[in-house]
Amino acid sequence: MPWGKTTSADASAGRAERIATRSRNEVWKKPPRRIESSECITCDTCVRNCPPEFGAIFDRGLDVVIIPELCSGCPVCVMVCPVDCIYVDEDWTPTDNDMWNHVELTAEGTS
Ligand code: SF4
Ligand code: SF4
Repeated sequence: MPWGKTTSADASAGRAERIATRSRNEVWKKPPRRIESSECITCDTCVRNCPPEFGAIFDRGLDVVIIPELCSGCPVCVMVCPVDCIYVDEDWTPTDNDMWNHVELTAEGTS
């Protein structure tokens, strides 16, 4: 694959690959973000604003979570969150299989 210019098609292929491999892009220098559920008011503003090429935030009904493997740390969500409850997550842990299954179902439904 050529390096350099990134197209939107490349970007969405990148997200699909990250979901398929369940791994984070090693090129990303910034750590992912995490949502502090005890402070979050589940307004979904971050879900709507996370750039589609990342699509890292999911509303699970009872809480809203960031999938660290999909989060570049960009950090648009931090700027739009009305209650400032999104933090840098240097010590992130891999997403569990149940959540990945949910992510895969969502990706299939929107593609
Ligand atoms: S930091 Fe960027 S990529 Fe990560 S969840 Fe927030 S908006 Fe999405
Ligand atoms: S924008 Fe902030 S308060 Fe709203 S759902 Fe996202 S993390 Fe929670």
